[in-house]
Amino acid sequence: MNIQEYKGVFVFAQQVDNELSGIALELVGKGKDLAKDLGTEVTAVLVGSGIKGLADELAEYGADKVIVVDDPELKEYRTEPYAHALASVINEFKPEIFLVGATAIGRDLGPRVSARIHTGLTADCTQLDIGDFPINPIPGKEQLHNQLLMTRPAFGGNTIATIACPNFRPQMATVRPGVMQKAERVPGAKAEVIEFNPGFTPDNKYVEILKIVKSVSDVADIMDAKILVSGGRGVGSAENFKLLDDLAEVLGGTVSCSRAVVDAGWKPKDLQVGQTGKTVRPNVYFAIGISGAIQHVAGMEESDIIIAINKDESAPIFDVADYGIVGDLNKIVPALTEKLKAELANK
Ligand SMILES: Cc1cc2nc3c(=O)[nH]c(=O)nc-3n(C[C@H](O)[C@H](O)[C@H](O)COP(=O)(O)OP(=O)(O)OC[C@H]3O[C@@H](n4cnc5c(N)ncnc54)[C@H](O)[C@@H]3O)c2cc1C
Repeated sequence: MNIQEYKGVFVFAQQVDNELSGIALELVGKGKDLAKDLGTEVTAVLVGSGIKGLADELAEYGADKVIVVDDPELKEYRTEPYAHALASVINEFKPEIFLVGATAIGRDLGPRVSARIHTGLTADCTQLDIGDFPINPIPGKEQLHNQLLMTRPAFGGNTIATIACPNFRPQMATVRPGVMQKAERVPGAKAEVIEFNPGFTPDNKYVEILKIVKSVSDVADIMDAKILVSGGRGVGSAENFKLLDDLAEVLGGTVSCSRAVVDAGWKPKDLQVGQTGKTVRPNVYFAIGISGAIQHVAGMEESDIIIAINKDESAPIFDVADYGIVGDLNKIVPALTEKLKAELANK
């Protein structure tokens, strides 16, 4: 492999039912930053059937080029034809970096593609930078420049590892949704659109879709919430979450929770914040009866304002909180709700 031939930052622009997933735009945003550091361009790879119209949206969020792989075989996501599409794009266009969202689709697709094109993949990254590798010079070992440094939690979240892929290209990573930020939308921005179809054999499939059953959820997506009222084991019971529902209602917020709450069966997994839950970035995050374990903090530390309520003044959550209230949540939360209700009624 001549790694000098590989140029540019490519991102997989995931779409479902001809709608771009949020992660597609987040990756374009991050890809743009990385491309700037490397003095190159960001290219979005759009795969599906009848999806060319989505190229403009990718351009408005910062894509310089969009490669469209459009084929009836790609209408619904299936591992085999999608892996063939991406591996063919990589073999043809030779990017130096290829990013995929760590969604259900991306977690299936990314490793399959990386194995097929014989490169490495770092899964579930929370940070990506361009830099030197080894990060600190090692005598007798060449320090390479302009490498993709891929950072992710390791050993159950107890340490943070930075990983590079110096000898193979592209450098591949899956990235957690909600961690990177979309770029500012520039209405009317245009990208160069390149249509590419490597050819698909209709019967070359291991999976046949018989029926698609969509789950209907009446739970708000906590990743979209501007205000999150999050509860932990300290709330005490499923019923006692009523205190948090009331506070969320007054603020126009959404209730979320820690893993301890999901494990106790008090709330569904969809509401879990953290390393094995969702990464959130609201304007205001209330951490109520949450101790602040590293795996929880990993999912909420980027919130603009963090307000912690905990009866233990030494709880680690106070280390990341902007405001802290030490005391019994059963007294503080209803008092806060009443006070806010009165304040808002006077406006
Ligand atoms: C691989 C791995 C992945 C994980 N992923 C996640 C994840 O995604 N998300 C996550 O949340 N956790 C995750 N965890 C679990 C994590 O380590 C913690 O166990 C969990 O976050 C603890 O939840 P908690 O803060 O609600 O409970 P606790 O740690 O039990 O804390 C409860 C807090 O409530 C306070 N409290 C109790 N009563 C009151 C009261 N009346 N008033 C005020 N405060 C009170 C206590 O002082 C305490 O600080 C993971 C763990 C591992 C090993």
